[in-house]
Amino acid sequence: PVRVLTGITTSGTPHLGNYVGAIRPAVAASRDAAVESYFFLADLHALIKVQEPARVQRSTLEIAAAWLACGLDPQRVRFYRQSDIPEIPELTWLLTCVAGKGLLNRAHAYKAAVDRNRAEAEDDDAGISAGLFMYPVLMAADILLFNAERVPVGRDQIQHIEMARDFGQRFNHLYGEHFTLPEAAIEEHVATLPGLDGRKMSKSYDNVIPLFAPREQLCKLVFSIVTDSRAPGEPKDTEGSALFEIYRAFASADETAAMRRAFAEGIAWGDAKQRLFERVEVEIAPLRARYEALVAEPQVIERQLREGAARLREERATPFLAQLRRAVGLAPLD
Ligand code: ATP
Repeated sequence: PVRVLTGITTSGTPHLGNYVGAIRPAVAASRDAAVESYFFLADLHALIKVQEPARVQRSTLEIAAAWLACGLDPQRVRFYRQSDIPEIPELTWLLTCVAGKGLLNRAHAYKAAVDRNRAEAEDDDAGISAGLFMYPVLMAADILLFNAERVPVGRDQIQHIEMARDFGQRFNHLYGEHFTLPEAAIEEHVATLPGLDGRKMSKSYDNVIPLFAPREQLCKLVFSIVTDSRAPGEPKDTEGSALFEIYRAFASADETAAMRRAFAEGIAWGDAKQRLFERVEVEIAPLRARYEALVAEPQVIERQLREGAARLREERATPFLAQLRRAVGLAPLD
């Protein structure tokens, strides 16, 4: 089987973008017998962006419950919390020592932060933590520890997979063939969902529709999606329409074609929003009911996460780290 790895950062409430872009396709793929799925809660990553303990903790519960509500079967897949596997930060250090600093200087997230500082005439590194700078090494450890072969990502993440390949390759070159090099799997058919303001829906932008917003709130949020000011009867553009993009991510090909015609025929924005709300609600309502039951029992989720991590450490992480420690010379003196 091919090993596929998907993580979600526990930096906030899971949103429709996480569902369409990660949870729904990953859960569907996990039902394929030819796939060995690794699903994890990236809580060490969350600390890079969020320094509110209650938020990280709540997000961990919500994202775990979201995975389970959407059909992840913890008996079939590897389901774990990153911080329950101490071998991940340990491997991060081993990789840090082979990672080129120059390569990290070119990481998009770091460069973007430097560019913002320059635009404001600040020091290049003002306010930038070493954690943000090291993010690609932690991500490489997530991937390489389990020799994940396929990592489904958006285009903006390709560079991180390439860095993981680079670090893995250097390590292999120095110490022998320990790592399988991962491939980025760009899922062309998986949409990047825009948020309420038209930018990419993201926990860091405050533009999200929470995946399990109660029905009334979902309706209100859908009605707050930005649209242009065209009146009922005027033809609407599907191109660049956040509303249309979100609709398309939930609808069948026929429904999407019908919506496209409705746009051309000048559907009123209110009516288009009502259709979108109904389409999303049909898919989400049954999952929401399960989600609400799950978040009410954090101890059940906690137990599943711990069992998941314990199993994975035993079958893979602990013996593999012992092998890597020996490879680099951190062996007992016997
Ligand atoms: P952050 O704001 O912290 O970057 P995020 O919600 O944008 O959070 P992650 O938690 O890093 O993103 O992403 C988890 C998964 O959800 C990834 O596979 C990512 O590709 C997917 N994802 C995130 N946002 C979207 C979106 N708007 N559309 C489609 N997929 C998305």
